[in-house]
Amino acid sequence: MEYISTRGKVAARGFIDTVLMGLADDGGLMVPAEIPVISPEKLEEWRSLSFQELFLEIFSYYTNDEIPYDDLKKMVYTSYGNFRAPEVTPLHRVNDSLYVLELFHGPTFAFKDVALQFMGELYSYIAKVRGEIIHILGATSGDTGAAAIQGVRGKEGIKICILHPHGKVSKVQELQMTTVDDSNVLNLSVEGNFDDCQKIIKELFADLDFKGRYHLRAINSINFVRILAQTVYYFHAYLQLPGSDQKKVNISVPSGNFGNIFSGFLAQRMGLPIHKLIIATNENNILERFVVTGEYKPGSFTGTYSPSMDIQVASNFERYLYYLLDEDAEKLSRYMGTLQSEGAITVDGELLARVQADFSALGVKNAQCLEIISKYQQESGYLLDPHTACGVAAYEKFSAPDEISIAYATAHPAKFDEAIALTGIKQEFPAPIAALFELPQHQVVVDHDKAEIVRQLVAFYG
Ligand SMILES: *Cc1c(COP(=O)(O)O)cnc(C)c1O
Repeated sequence: MEYISTRGKVAARGFIDTVLMGLADDGGLMVPAEIPVISPEKLEEWRSLSFQELFLEIFSYYTNDEIPYDDLKKMVYTSYGNFRAPEVTPLHRVNDSLYVLELFHGPTFAFKDVALQFMGELYSYIAKVRGEIIHILGATSGDTGAAAIQGVRGKEGIKICILHPHGKVSKVQELQMTTVDDSNVLNLSVEGNFDDCQKIIKELFADLDFKGRYHLRAINSINFVRILAQTVYYFHAYLQLPGSDQKKVNISVPSGNFGNIFSGFLAQRMGLPIHKLIIATNENNILERFVVTGEYKPGSFTGTYSPSMDIQVASNFERYLYYLLDEDAEKLSRYMGTLQSEGAITVDGELLARVQADFSALGVKNAQCLEIISKYQQESGYLLDPHTACGVAAYEKFSAPDEISIAYATAHPAKFDEAIALTGIKQEFPAPIAALFELPQHQVVVDHDKAEIVRQLVAFYG
């Protein structure tokens, strides 16, 4: 399988080189040159497979010619060996029309573990077989950094540095990152906000000399391996449903950077019969506005109870736009140019009709998010985290009586207790989270000053 850029100006390359490149050198995003299609008969054969077995089947289509099956198998079983649920991503029945797919049984209690546990193994494998030096650098508003650090801590051949805004991530997120004491991990706690961190990272990656000299690698969700790892649980969710419920199946996804929902779009293109793909967002509703009006326009930033979806630009959106434009890289480049120069792009007519056939979307208000948490706790005894609650609100809006919906639980409620506490609900922390409060923290607090951060990096990467 070869991979190409959405903007068409990068030579086709294999899976491992695609992972190493991250953002395409022409500014685009990497996509498979051709999406494999799974026949209904094949899908039927997959019904009895475990998460790990499904992962191997799906990845084989994408990595076959580069990663020997036994090597892949070893990585997959190691990656998911430390999940707290044997199903890895178990399906929980809430009522007659709603299931929740619990994606939070990994080490950091959020869905990003599913992709980043594997990515850690993969980077370590690449370091070994290719002799590549892997120096991961990233900025986080909370969940990505914690999951990435857990994915690579203690691994040979890899160092990771994560910038987070000092005092501006949730307490649990901060502890998950900073209580790790492996020597290959550096936490820089930056006096500033997430955008300050992100800006410095972008500048360092854009400095190709610096990037090359220090072997910088990215972990953000524009990396295709993260997208692909997530398609596995779309198949797993559908195949876990009892046969009688495999009628019209909707999937509702709490969305920010469009990574998770794009994995669903990919699964659908591969032949998974998803009826409606539902995009749930919060008050930062650029995606809802796009689906409803056709205008994609970054707006102003609003703080919400679901901070992992507080984004202004959905970085994976370009991948969807590429397919919407029938894989026409030139047309896509023109649209992205317009977004850059005009600050917005618009689709209408037949294109907008296709967008609306592909997705339903709802931006959930803060008050409604808390109402949904209270309602489901009362009626079903099931506690939703605020991100998941947005997904459940969107299911309520879009699901018809003869349809079954699966709402994705992207985080464990304990991770966002600050918001849950506002509903009056008191929760007990799972033991691994409670234990974090007793551990010493390891972080270096720095100004949001690029020169100082570069000094730290040079000393760390060596
Ligand atoms: C990252 C995150 C999201 C958003 O996922 P995207 O792939 O960026 O759309 C939603 N919920 C939680 C809890 C997250 O950590």
